[in-house]
Amino acid sequence: MYAPPVQRLITELSKLPGVGGRTAQRLAFYLLRASEEEAGALADAIREVKEKIGLCSICYNLADGPTCRICADERRDPELICVVEEPSDVISIERTHEFAGRYHVLGGALSPIDGVDPDDLKIAELYERVATHQVREVVIATNPTTTGEATSLHIADGLRRRRPELAVTRLASGLPVGADLEYADELTLGRALSGRRAV
Ligand SMILES: [Zn+2]
Repeated sequence: MYAPPVQRLITELSKLPGVGGRTAQRLAFYLLRASEEEAGALADAIREVKEKIGLCSICYNLADGPTCRICADERRDPELICVVEEPSDVISIERTHEFAGRYHVLGGALSPIDGVDPDDLKIAELYERVATHQVREVVIATNPTTTGEATSLHIADGLRRRRPELAVTRLASGLPVGADLEYADELTLGRALSGRRAV
């Protein structure tokens, strides 16, 4: 129906989360109408972010250098680590202003059905970090979903076996069950964080 380059653009856009075929088509036509400069700015922004942004060598958060801003911040408590699924969860928790520690970003949640095993996440890296650094408490802040809960149990168990004296906590209930952390409002997430309990 479309010239191959247009079809290619629609196909690529439709792979974006939350973008269906119809939206992809609308975006593609918007870009076709846009000036060369405007469309080029979008293409450049995508290329630049892929070239310049990598993962923090300590916590696997997004970073524009060897370590992320939070790991580089001396004022953050290095003995308190909050484990989250995605870099976007770091943003959600930072917005609450309730957490002064550091993070550990897993890169997803355990989901055998989707072929996501412990080796696919930064779980071994978390154990290594806890074994080689002074850590007082690990707060598990995976999403209150089936996969997030399974991941939480797996990690709590792994940490307990390796470091029985370590405090391992989980966000308090009150978060909408089945939803991702990023959809929780700051107040609810802040309360869940301050009311965290041992697991
Ligand atoms: Zn970091």
